[in-house]
Amino acid sequence: MHCPVCRVDDTKVVDSRLAEEGGAVRRRRQCRACAHRFTTFERIDEVPLVVVKSDGRTEPFNRAKIVAGIAAATKGRGIDAGVLESVAEAVEDSVRLQGSPVSSAHISVVVLDRLRTIDEVAYLRFASVYKNFDAAADFHRELELLSKGAAG
Ligand SMILES: [Zn+2]
Repeated sequence: MHCPVCRVDDTKVVDSRLAEEGGAVRRRRQCRACAHRFTTFERIDEVPLVVVKSDGRTEPFNRAKIVAGIAAATKGRGIDAGVLESVAEAVEDSVRLQGSPVSSAHISVVVLDRLRTIDEVAYLRFASVYKNFDAAADFHRELELLSKGAAG
């Protein structure tokens, strides 16, 4: 962090405390070169992504659940675990671009869209489960059913 006065990149923290009701850390810094004091704030950069389920309940987005659903759909298809991770990552990126909150149904559609480009059979498996429900069907219930279907 450059000193705003002399631009020297050598400052020390002289005080550190919570701010904004714990959502940020406020730091008083002092330049070692010119002794100028200034304040910085540290905040979480990532906005939490909230998923709205079909019954209206909300929960934090969980990428592991996406990976589990894709893993069930691609079971026995010889698809690398790294591919599953990258698909889930792409889904998360796409969903985050939509902004929070996001519906579970929308996440299902994004997953389907990605699966189509990876493996036709996996896409059809996921779609057949998804289409048995209405558009607002609970994504996690779908994932569970998908897992059971793939296991049986
Ligand atoms: Zn300075």
